[in-house]
Amino acid sequence: MNETARNTYIPLSCRKKHPKLWFDDGNIILATKLSLFRVHRSLLSAYSPVFADMLSLPQPEVAENTIDGLPDVHVVVFSDDDNEFTHFLRFCYNPRYHQGGMPTTFDIISGLLRMSTKYQVDELRDEVISHLALAYPSTFTKYAEAVKPNAQLTLFPPFDGQHFAVARLARETEATILLPVALWRSSCQLRQEIMARERSVSTREIDRQRLTPADERTCLSVQLACHAIYMWLSHELLSILGRTCPGSRADNAKCTDIALRAMAKHFSSSFDSQSVDVLQRWDSCDVWTDLVCDRCRWNAAFKVLRFKRSIWDGLPGRFGLRPWGGLVPESTPATT
Ligand SMILES: [Zn+2]
Repeated sequence: MNETARNTYIPLSCRKKHPKLWFDDGNIILATKLSLFRVHRSLLSAYSPVFADMLSLPQPEVAENTIDGLPDVHVVVFSDDDNEFTHFLRFCYNPRYHQGGMPTTFDIISGLLRMSTKYQVDELRDEVISHLALAYPSTFTKYAEAVKPNAQLTLFPPFDGQHFAVARLARETEATILLPVALWRSSCQLRQEIMARERSVSTREIDRQRLTPADERTCLSVQLACHAIYMWLSHELLSILGRTCPGSRADNAKCTDIALRAMAKHFSSSFDSQSVDVLQRWDSCDVWTDLVCDRCRWNAAFKVLRFKRSIWDGLPGRFGLRPWGGLVPESTPATT
C-alpha cells in the first residue's frame, strides 16, 4: 500500500471488517485507519496492561464511535499500522501464530516486536527478540553459526536491506542486544548500498527499511576503520611466519615470502574493501595458508582467531553502545 492510500481518511462505517478477527460475541470494536476488529475486551486486557488501562476508560459517546447496527459496542480508534495491529491481534487469539525459532516472515516478527513493545506484552517481546537473536546474536560462537549459508532460512526469508531493517527495528523498540550485530552486518554492506538508502525518498515504509541517519554515518565510519585495521593486521600476520618452521633458515624465509607475494597479489587485484566481514572471513590470510608449512598455518589460524575475537569484543563500542555485558538484557522491556 502506498503512502497516499495509507493517509487517506476512511470513515469508520466504510472500514473493512477483518474476516478472521470479527467475532459476533466480541464486546469491543477496535479500529485502525483501514480495518475494524470486533474482539473481546477481557482477552486483550489479560495480555496487555496497556490495553487493560485503555479499555477500562469510559469511551466518549460520539456518533463516530459507533458502528451501524451495533450501537452498544464501543469503538476504540488506534493509530497503529493496520498490518502490525492485525498480526498482534492474531497472536492474541492464536499464540501459535508466532513460535520462537520456527519459520516466519519479517513482516510478522517486526510487527509483533513493535506492538508487544508498545503494549507491554513482555513475554511476546522477549520471545521475538530471542528469535531475532538467532540471526543477530551476542556471542562470537553464535555469530559464527548464524552467518553460515542458509542459517537464517529457519527464521524468515532473507531480503535486500535486511540488516538495515533489523537495526532500525532494534533502535525503535530498544532491543539493544540486537544492535551490535545488526549494525556490524550493515557496515559490511557495499558502501553505495548504505549511502543510496540515505538519498531515498522518505516515507514510513522506506524509513523502516534503512538505518537512521546517525547509524548510517557510524556504519560508514566503522567500515573505513575496520578496513584500515584489517590491512594493518594482515601485514602484522606476516611477522609470525618463519619463526617455527621446520628445516633450514632458507625454508623459514620461504613461508614468509610465499605469504607476502600471495597477499600482495590479493590486495592488488581481488580485494573488495567495502564488503568484507572480517569476523567471517580473513581473505588476505586464506590466500596463502595452504601454501605455507603446517606450523605457520596453525600459528596464523590462531592469530586470526584472536584478531576476530578482539574485533568482536569491541563491536558494541564501535557503534557507541555499551559493552556486551552492559547491553539491555533481552528480558527487559523498552520504555514506550
Ligand atoms: Zn613455515
